[in-house]
Amino acid sequence: MASTVNDHATEKSIMKFATRAIHVGQAPDPATGATIPPIHVTTTYTQEAPGENKGYDYSRSINPTRENLQAVLASLENGAAAASFASGLAATTAILHNLRPGDNVVAYADLYGGTYRLMENVFRDWGLDARYTDDNDPAAFKELIDENTKLIWLETPTNPLLRLLDIQAIADIAHNAGAKLAVDNTFATPAVQQPINHGADYVIHSTTKYIGGHSDVVGGAVICKDAADHEPIAYYQNAAGAVSSPFDCYITHRGIKTLSLRLERHCHNAMRIAEHFEHHPKLESLSYPGLECHPDHALAKKQMSGYGGIVTVVVKGGQDGAFKMGQRTKLFSLAESLGGVESLVNHPAIMTHASIPREIREARGVTDGLLRLSVGIEDADDLIADLEQALDF
Ligand SMILES: *Cc1c(COP(=O)(O)O)cnc(C)c1O
Repeated sequence: MASTVNDHATEKSIMKFATRAIHVGQAPDPATGATIPPIHVTTTYTQEAPGENKGYDYSRSINPTRENLQAVLASLENGAAAASFASGLAATTAILHNLRPGDNVVAYADLYGGTYRLMENVFRDWGLDARYTDDNDPAAFKELIDENTKLIWLETPTNPLLRLLDIQAIADIAHNAGAKLAVDNTFATPAVQQPINHGADYVIHSTTKYIGGHSDVVGGAVICKDAADHEPIAYYQNAAGAVSSPFDCYITHRGIKTLSLRLERHCHNAMRIAEHFEHHPKLESLSYPGLECHPDHALAKKQMSGYGGIVTVVVKGGQDGAFKMGQRTKLFSLAESLGGVESLVNHPAIMTHASIPREIREARGVTDGLLRLSVGIEDADDLIADLEQALDF
């Protein structure tokens, strides 16, 4: 068996997803044969002579535990290479900072609140113009493009409204305009959606969510389709320095080994809940891309191999109804974040999306009655019973 990370990754590249999730970047330690590679906490590396080293000099620049995580992430997203960061927003920053003042980015309006805040409150002053469409028709993106558009940014399914965007069609529009397409794949994960296969140039993850999967580590990653696009991201990773720690890389990598299995159960449980509560009398509406009545179901079927673990509901009675349901659940914890093995319920208007001004938020459908469920991998019957009793008010 090959002993270096890169050989190991190449050797495994023809294998299927679940196998790669377990074996890429996990070559046994050449020094001891340890099946699980050690966590390399070292900050520095002993040199034989000045400048003569084994390819490692300082851990912000290069670290074997981080290399292992990057190798598996690149493999699972079918990219040329990956760079891991201290958080999802640090990964997003790396891509935005790669643009130049005067450039613009066209984005879908239903964005993670922190991404919107970063574009508006940090990068706008720096000289980046962000333009948003709330029409998910690819033609709407085309209308906002001009000669300074260098990037299209999207999440699909969107957060928190779970609309779908046609990655291939929007990639074609970006490329025809000489721009790149970045897809935040945090909600879907590569287990059910691989944006690079549909033409995306960059995939971004908050690995804090499904990739880590256990709500115990914050991290992020950028995966590039082409090695040439990875180069400036890797340069920035070292130059700006928001790298993930060796322990965080290790724990994230451990989570990845069960990603495939977990997503199967997340999708199964979310579908059970969606079907069960679709017509519940206390709910105004329920959204899940796996339901045939979902407006983007056909697109979801085309570009995803599963519909994910997020279900959103609008509770009757506005904020009052949503607060009641959100506070009465016992298994679903009222908390921000998503994608862990445990179920969570979140009130976007007050919790995750509070950084978006109220008028803008409401115009986009993030109303006071909206709750986002991150359906965990507990037993579906128990989750359904918990939501039933929470709605019995
Ligand atoms: C959480 C999240 C982010 C930000 O990631 P952090 O790890 O919290 O910095 C970005 N995009 C999406 C879709 C997210 O859910």
